[in-house]
Amino acid sequence: MAHARTHRGGHPAPADPAHDHRQCVADALSVADRVCAKRGIRFTDLRRRVYELVWASHKPVGAYAILEILRSEGLGSAPPTVYRALDFLLEHELVHRIESLNAFVGCAHPGESHRGYFLICKQCGNAEELDDARLDASIARAAEAHGFTARHTTLEIAGTCASCRAG
Ligand SMILES: [Zn+2]
Ligand SMILES: [Zn+2]
Ligand SMILES: [Zn+2]
Repeated sequence: MAHARTHRGGHPAPADPAHDHRQCVADALSVADRVCAKRGIRFTDLRRRVYELVWASHKPVGAYAILEILRSEGLGSAPPTVYRALDFLLEHELVHRIESLNAFVGCAHPGESHRGYFLICKQCGNAEELDDARLDASIARAAEAHGFTARHTTLEIAGTCASCRAG
């Protein structure tokens, strides 16, 4: 069940001082390795590095910022290479694109088929993934009432997160 103060099974929310982001990154990398192994796809060094950079924080990061960091690391990647790596991560649902920010954020539960709903804090900049089956159902119902079959839903809710409200 989604809870305002925690994400991923009781782990403190991103803006909470008790949040251990190294744990997020370690979890994300091990799940991504599993997803790639299971699907028989290659998690190349560049794909992994781009994934790590997206996971550097819970703040959505743009392709250009990723490119700049790769260049500063001497990986000298051309923009198409970075875009292809991001497309790969999107395709395998390891990251999500935040349309309103034209930026990317790591998926909190990769490998599971789901829709990306996001709570985006205007204060700390964190984007928290919201997973709520009731939302899926009510969006599908509302669309069907219009004779419309929903296939892809992007829901981005801007506001203030629980930690910023408390702080
Ligand atoms: Zn984290
Ligand atoms: Zn996700
Ligand atoms: Zn916040």
